[in-house]
Amino acid sequence: MSTALRRESGQGAQQVIGHIIGGRGDAAASRTLPVYDPALGEVAARVALASRADIDRAVNTAKAAFAAWSEFAPLVRARILFNFKQLLDEHRDELAAIITREHGKTLSDARGELMRGIEVVEFACGVPQLLKGQHSDNIGGGIDNFSLRQPLGVCAGVTPFNFPAMVPLWMFPLAIACGNTFVLKPSERDPSASIRIAELLTKAGLPDGVFNVMQGDREAVDALLDHPDVAALSFVGSTAVAEHVHRRGTRSGKRVQALGGAKNHLVVMPDADLDHAADALVGAGYGSAGERCMAISVAVAVGSTADPLVEKLKLRIPRLTVGDGRDPGTDVGPLITAEHRDRVQGYIEDGIRSGAELVVDGRGRTVAGRERGFFLGPTLFDRVTAEMRIYREEIFGPVLSVVRVDSFADAVELINAHELGNGVACFTRDGRVAREFARRIEAGMVGINVAIPVPMAFHSFGGWKRSLFGDHHIYGEEGVRFYTRYKSVMQRWPDAASKGPEFTMPTHK
Ligand code: NAD
Repeated sequence: MSTALRRESGQGAQQVIGHIIGGRGDAAASRTLPVYDPALGEVAARVALASRADIDRAVNTAKAAFAAWSEFAPLVRARILFNFKQLLDEHRDELAAIITREHGKTLSDARGELMRGIEVVEFACGVPQLLKGQHSDNIGGGIDNFSLRQPLGVCAGVTPFNFPAMVPLWMFPLAIACGNTFVLKPSERDPSASIRIAELLTKAGLPDGVFNVMQGDREAVDALLDHPDVAALSFVGSTAVAEHVHRRGTRSGKRVQALGGAKNHLVVMPDADLDHAADALVGAGYGSAGERCMAISVAVAVGSTADPLVEKLKLRIPRLTVGDGRDPGTDVGPLITAEHRDRVQGYIEDGIRSGAELVVDGRGRTVAGRERGFFLGPTLFDRVTAEMRIYREEIFGPVLSVVRVDSFADAVELINAHELGNGVACFTRDGRVAREFARRIEAGMVGINVAIPVPMAFHSFGGWKRSLFGDHHIYGEEGVRFYTRYKSVMQRWPDAASKGPEFTMPTHK
């Protein structure tokens, strides 16, 4: 029997997707939830929901594995990650199919998500270099001073539904490369990718217990937040939950980085190439059905750009194909659940009520042969204002709002006044405007003529304001800092007898 089957019980909609503790499958659960195939609108399986006692078992397993794993030489840990990277490459199509089946995004988008995750594994393979400390020879009196970074212990990750492979891969490769052990709590909406990833880690040679997967909901998250043996927790999800996670985790003395929601703006200056900007808006607004934390949900049209920009968007939107993410021609897949689709539709109705101009209406969209799927067509609003709920709140669906402003200064003021500050972009041909924008804008990730400025693995990812709670962005060097403790060592090997105790502060004479 394959390891995949041992980690599940039942078949089809009866199948229960379970946990991985200490390298072994565990499908026991007193509570379960349905997992959908959103394109078909059907229950594909059920997912086990971990109890506090289950989380305790996983953390204890990870704690026991830490003693040996943290003693592995960084180079040896990196070699296992090299194997893992190769396995991810070999299984990319299989993993993409798993992601698309449960999430609904197109297969090409799922492969893209994996590639961005694999890049973090590649970065983590450089961990011997990343963990190198600094050394000062002879700071005085025959003492050398050097620094090192040491692992924390058991780290945990809690991840959202919208990137079931990439967001976990933002976290655990660096955490384990640094010598920690890990408990991942993936989204209960698309739990299977994490299970396959755990199997590939085992195949790559990772010792049992270093990486554990616990399926679950709020109960599992709160159990991780309260557990005294979890040293650090990385969270990615909505702002309300990110704030809760940060408060509760730091109250119990943990390191917490909690990345929250987004309302990403793209400013179109009058000198911009409007075709370029319109294409970028359509891709960044409706790609992955708008369920990306870096999706553009607001186009800020400066001065005279609004009318021609809206015309160009109106021409492009009907050309998009809404359908099953498994079909090669699909541009926009379904939303994750029927409830979420209804919630996004509720926002569209709210936008109409509050006086925004509905230019393209995606409501009521059905797909032939997929009549029960959770589809919603791309939707465009014009003349949206800062007071409207559709402007203030994250919608997380294929809804793009155009806000008209008079000047560059107004665009900057509008964006800086928003409570969220994840990604932002400015399309212009003017270098001075671009420079001013990058310097003055209050957001963590800035694109100049780049609609989705997701930093590479050797930089770091994160927002500002209520898009991130905590002190560190995720992955890159920020990730190494988050997953390690800094230690400074002063070392002397005296060649003479002690001169007796010293009572003044040691200084360099
Ligand atoms: P979510 O906040 O509902 O869930 C995220 C995780 O938290 C899941 O694992 C879930 O089980 C858990 N959770 C949910 N409610 C909880 C509660 N009350 N207490 C404790 N844990 C809880 O988010 P989602 O719907 O899965 O994902 C979409 C959200 O994630 C969007 O807001 C999106 O912007 C955000 N996101 C942000 C980034 C980023 O980098 N900033 C990246 C991806 C997604």
